[in-house]
Amino acid sequence: MSSNVTPYADLIARRHRHLAASHYPDPERPPSLTFGVGPGWLRLVDELLTALDEADVPFAFGVTDIRDKNGRLEVFLDGWNDVLDDIVDHYCDLSETVCAICGEPGKPRGPGWRETLCVAHVRRHGKLTP
Ligand SMILES: [Zn+2]
Repeated sequence: MSSNVTPYADLIARRHRHLAASHYPDPERPPSLTFGVGPGWLRLVDELLTALDEADVPFAFGVTDIRDKNGRLEVFLDGWNDVLDDIVDHYCDLSETVCAICGEPGKPRGPGWRETLCVAHVRRHGKLTP
């Protein structure tokens, strides 16, 4: 993991802090919107949060969690409508084309629990090249 990952995650957390759902406080972990997401997906998450921020929705909502589930981005909000659904779907679909480690083009790889990886990261993680 490169040494500049944590500063970018911190930057995302600060930039989008107002989107963090305040009514799900977890004293066990620091304020962050990107836990459970590999460094290769941080840019995707940053863009997702920007899109959510700019969404024209008639209610306040927050992000309760963002994680990697079986090689696909999984996003939890405390409010939903079709606009937010479309934005989240778009970035979740994109996540299956981006290596979660390095951000280069990738695809979900098995066997077992899938990880979305580029060719260079496949062998290192014991996944099969398709
Ligand atoms: Zn990679």
